[in-house]
Amino acid sequence: MNATVTAIELFPLRIPRDEPYLGPLEEANRPNEKGYIVRPGNRTVYPVFDQTLLVKVVASDGTVGWGECFGVVAPQIAKTVLEELLIPFVIGRSPHDVERIYEDLYDLQRVRGHFGGYALDAIAGLDMALWDLRGKLLNQPVWQLLGGLRHERLAVYVSGLPGGTKEERAALGKGWIDRGFSALKFAAVVADEGEVAEIKAIRSDVGPTPKILADLHWRYTALEAVRLIERLSEFDLYLAEAPVAPEDLAGQAQVARSVKTRIGLGEEWRTVHEYLPRLQARCMDVIQPEMAHTGITGFRRICELAQAFHCQVMPHATINIGIAQAASLHVAATLANFAMHEYQHTIFDRNKQYIRSTMDCRDGYFSLPEGTGLGAEPTEEVLSFVINED
Ligand code: MG
Repeated sequence: MNATVTAIELFPLRIPRDEPYLGPLEEANRPNEKGYIVRPGNRTVYPVFDQTLLVKVVASDGTVGWGECFGVVAPQIAKTVLEELLIPFVIGRSPHDVERIYEDLYDLQRVRGHFGGYALDAIAGLDMALWDLRGKLLNQPVWQLLGGLRHERLAVYVSGLPGGTKEERAALGKGWIDRGFSALKFAAVVADEGEVAEIKAIRSDVGPTPKILADLHWRYTALEAVRLIERLSEFDLYLAEAPVAPEDLAGQAQVARSVKTRIGLGEEWRTVHEYLPRLQARCMDVIQPEMAHTGITGFRRICELAQAFHCQVMPHATINIGIAQAASLHVAATLANFAMHEYQHTIFDRNKQYIRSTMDCRDGYFSLPEGTGLGAEPTEEVLSFVINED
């Protein structure tokens, strides 16, 4: 119970993949010398491999906690923030002070202007590792420490249909529905014949019952988004995600009050300070926080704030090896306003070989990891993918 943090180790990982996330590269789109591409559909940078940053916290009694920072691009940046700035302020402290530590690490950077982005990604993985350590020291799962279980399994929506044509993608969607899943999300950025043709093809294959969500990838002006969502609603669109630019608060509010379809926002935000003005302006019906940006402490505070605005939670699932995924499930399992968790099958199914955990996704639901702490630890094998700093 009196264990303190004695060491923190960092593992930036790069795992090769045969095909980049979101599917094959567009013609003439070649990775640069660092292995990054920009998807023309949403002007956003992606790697051609999987990357993440793992955090290992060691306590004075030898107990180990694991966390995972958002590291999709340049995981070396959050690593440097941790090494050069944050870790010395955590060594010697009690993991039971995890929420106090989260606040201290946020406070010490805020008037330097670092209250978002990579600075918060660095805190997120460290916070997760401290919660994992705390659970192990107390011999309890993290969800128990968060106030108790509401959901023994977590309903999911299937995210991503990696086919080359809309017909192939619709057939993939039908396959998931046939395997007991009840909700699908398609991505505007790869809907090469447009979102209306995409949803029409999927709806015609899956029939009237399954929920269909659309990730609009921040592509549109508010007026364009309103017109598009109205057309998609003819095919019973369940949720429109990220219709306009992340920083366009007025546009977000305009879309939300102009359409009769749920709006989901938030995968790119880190703290309650980014969510609060959007909740006040009724910019969304559903929040989509990403654990690897927020940590457990930040994630829970964001979700509780959303609850006060009667807003539902559909957690985002990024590229990770599964530690952040496990943490996201632990918090989601305790939330009154939880609706569905994103299931990134092209990431989760591939990378679960790299973690020791009972966590799985079948028949439309994630199972909670068993065991104390987060119930998810990296294998020795995955640590061999550490990025060479030369
Ligand atoms: Mg998204």
